[in-house]
Amino acid sequence: MRLSRYFLPVMKDTPADAQIVSHRYMLRAGMIRQQAAGIYSWLPLGFKVLKRIEEIVHEEQQRAGHIPLLMPTLQPADLWQESGRYDDYGEEMLRISDRHGRDMLYGPTNEEMITDIFRGYVSSYKDLPLTLYHIQWKFRDERRPRFGVMRGREFYMKDGYNFDLTKEDALHAYNRHLVSYLRTYERLGLQAIPMRADGGPIGGDYTHEFLVLAETGESEVFYDSEVTDLSFGDREIDYDDKVQCQGVLEEFTSRYARTDETHDEAEFAKVPEERRKTARGIEVGQIFYFGTKYSESMGAKVQGPDGQVVPVHMGSHGIGVSRLLGAIIEASHDDKGIIWPEGVTPFHCGIVNLRQGDEAADAACESLYAALEGAGLEPLYDDRDERAGGKFATQDLIGLPWRITVGPRGLKNGVVELTSRRTGESEELTPEAAVAKVI
Ligand code: ATP
Ligand code: MG
Ligand code: MG
Ligand code: MG
Repeated sequence: MRLSRYFLPVMKDTPADAQIVSHRYMLRAGMIRQQAAGIYSWLPLGFKVLKRIEEIVHEEQQRAGHIPLLMPTLQPADLWQESGRYDDYGEEMLRISDRHGRDMLYGPTNEEMITDIFRGYVSSYKDLPLTLYHIQWKFRDERRPRFGVMRGREFYMKDGYNFDLTKEDALHAYNRHLVSYLRTYERLGLQAIPMRADGGPIGGDYTHEFLVLAETGESEVFYDSEVTDLSFGDREIDYDDKVQCQGVLEEFTSRYARTDETHDEAEFAKVPEERRKTARGIEVGQIFYFGTKYSESMGAKVQGPDGQVVPVHMGSHGIGVSRLLGAIIEASHDDKGIIWPEGVTPFHCGIVNLRQGDEAADAACESLYAALEGAGLEPLYDDRDERAGGKFATQDLIGLPWRITVGPRGLKNGVVELTSRRTGESEELTPEAAVAKVI
C-alpha cells in the first residue's frame, strides 16, 4: 500500500476523553472512530488488525476440530423465553421490536440460538462430539462503555459451543478449548493466564477466564508468579488425545491464579510469600462447561448407544476479538506509539522515502516495495511529499515491526537504513540485505 493512496487519518493531538493508552493510540493512529458511546467504526488500519486477529482465531479453532458457521446478530425473543433468560438477562440486552410488533433482540451471546440449530438437526449420539462456533458482532448495553474497544457496547466475539453425550466428553471439549486458546493468545504475542473464574448461578468449577496482565485491566487478580513462567510454545498437540489435553490443563491451571470473584485468602496464603502476586488484568476470553442447562430447557436431546434419549452436555467458550486489539496495545507500546507483534501487524514493513521526487530515492523505494511484495509481505510505503520528522512520527505511532528509510545520501554509499520498532536499533544495509532481514 502507498500511503498517498491509503486512508490513514492520523491525529497529532491526544484525544482528551481517552483515558488509557490503547484507546489513545487507536484514535490517534486512525484505527477507530466513535459513532456513539461504545459503538465504533473500524477505519482501514483498525479493520486490518481486527481481520488478522480474526484469522488467527479461526485457524486455531479449526485446528482444534471446531466448525465455523455464522448466526445473525438479531434474534427472536422466543428462544430466550424458552431458556428463561429473556427476563433474567436484564438491562444489558438491547431489545427491539420489528414492524409487526415482534420482540427481537441484538444478541449478547448465542447459547439459545445454537441450541435451537442443534435440536433442529441432531438426534443421535453418532453425530457427536460436535463443536460449532462463529465470530460475530454482539451487543451488550454496558452501563459504562469505556476504554475504547475494551468495553464497547457493540463488540466482536468468537463464541463456540460444544455438544457432547457425556460430561466426560464435554470436559474434553473444555480442555480442547483451553489448549486452543493458549495457542491463540501466544500467536497474538500475548501472555493470557487462565484463572479460575466464577461459575455464576450455575456454579461449578468448570470455568476459566484468560487474563492479560495490565495496569489498566478492570479485574483484580491474584496469582502464583510461577504461572507467568509457563508458555505453550511450539509443542505438538493431538486434540483428540484426552490425556494430553488434560495434561495441558493441569500444567496451566494447577497453580493459584484467580480473579477477585473467586479469590480465597486462605488458599492464597499457601503460596510461598515471594511468589504471591496481586495485579490487574484484562479478560480476553472465558471457557465454560454448564452441563445440560440449555439442552434440558430447550429440548436438545440425542439417543444414546443404549437407546435412551438424553439431553446433551454443553459448554460455551468466548474470545473477545475486538477487545484483543486494546489488550495487545496495552501490553505492547512505548511513548511513541504501538509496537505490533509480528503475528497481527497491519503491514509488515514501512518504507520511508526521505526525499520524495529524488530519482534515485524514488527508484530504490519502488524496488524495495516490489521485493517485499514479491516475498508475500505487505509493505506500507510513505510516498507522500512530507517532512521526514512527520513520516517517522507516523511510523512510530502505527508500530510496524520494521521500517526501511531511504535517502539520497545513503544511496550514494549503496545503503538504506533498517530499523526495528521493538528495539529501536538501526543498521545500514544494502537494500537486498534489508529485505532479506525483514522476510
Ligand atoms: P466482562 O467481565 O469484561 O464484562 P464478560 O465476562 O461479561 O466480560 P463473556 O460473556 O465472558 O464476557 O464474553 C467473552 C469475551 O468477550 C470476554 O472474555 C471479553 O473478552 C469479551 N467481551 C465481553 N464484553 C465485552 C465488551 N463489552 N466489549 C468488548 N469485549 C467484551
Ligand atoms: Mg460483562
Ligand atoms: Mg467477566
Ligand atoms: Mg466472562
